[in-house]
Amino acid sequence: MKTISIIVPCYNESETINIYYNETIKYLNIDNYKFNFIFVNDGSSDNTLDIIRELEKNDDRIKYISFSRNFGKEAALYAGLEAAKKLGSDAAIQMDVDLQDDPKIIPDMIKEYENGYNLIITRHKNRHGQSFIKSFFSTTYYKLYSFVTKSKNLAKGARDYSLLDKKVIDAFLSIKDYERFTKGMYNFVGFRTKMIEFDYNKRVAGTTKWSFKKLFHYGIMGMREFSRFYEYIPKIFGWIFFLLLIFDTVWQTYNHIANATEFNYRILIFDVSMVMIFITLFYITRLIYDNKKQLQNRPIYITEDTNIKED
Ligand code: UDP
Ligand code: MG
Repeated sequence: MKTISIIVPCYNESETINIYYNETIKYLNIDNYKFNFIFVNDGSSDNTLDIIRELEKNDDRIKYISFSRNFGKEAALYAGLEAAKKLGSDAAIQMDVDLQDDPKIIPDMIKEYENGYNLIITRHKNRHGQSFIKSFFSTTYYKLYSFVTKSKNLAKGARDYSLLDKKVIDAFLSIKDYERFTKGMYNFVGFRTKMIEFDYNKRVAGTTKWSFKKLFHYGIMGMREFSRFYEYIPKIFGWIFFLLLIFDTVWQTYNHIANATEFNYRILIFDVSMVMIFITLFYITRLIYDNKKQLQNRPIYITEDTNIKED
């Protein structure tokens, strides 16, 4: 019998928890598997925790962790993974409580797990029903993200909804980043990864906990943490001014010869200064990234298998 923990981050979700629970348990009658839920109450100000405790009375598969304040979804997922490990689970599933992460595909995820995949990630087949603006921004973001990080999974719009086997749980826990970005970690940890698709669902009740501003900052953070994204900024500006410098020099030299105009040294000095400023900024950014990498203390490698035993 294998145990799978279902990690569910909840922030002011009093309207959705019962609906989520009643729907999800329909898909958990799978031979040879035991399930438990790890609800993480992320500092809710409504009665989310009371509802979880109420559920626990009738179902001993319900575990919970309640944060002292709102730490964010990524912190909740990390706490959930730690708990799954403590409970000795063979695998963990991370999913939202608003039923946007369709529980119907849990059996499919487990099938792929049995096929030998270590990490099963998911994405929406389409975005029917999502607002045009949101769909436009996410599609553009995923393209930009996969360009700067050279990752393929995100290009297709991977979600946090995923199944992680024991090895991947350990790998995720070994990443101690303070600012966490699950979708970036998929790529970082490696392992045999399978992607499953499902239809887009609207939130079943309640409202989104992510404002546009919060989502924007989270998106930028994800790029910053899994690529040298900030280096692009001085690099691009540096090139723009370098090309301007070439253009201005050629143009002024031509005019000087053909039309006997005076050189405008001010423009040329301005161009040179800007190039130098951006080169300096580029190397400062690079230095900050190198230091950050050292401080982040991410694992230098992740072992998939070895025959060297620890004593
Ligand atoms: N969530 C959380 N902490 C937060 C924000 C969200 O634990 O600070 C949870 C939330 O309760 C839900 C999941 O993360 O289970 C996804 O949030 P939401 O549905 O609001 O995001 P969206 O689907 O709109 O991106
Ligand atoms: Mg949602």
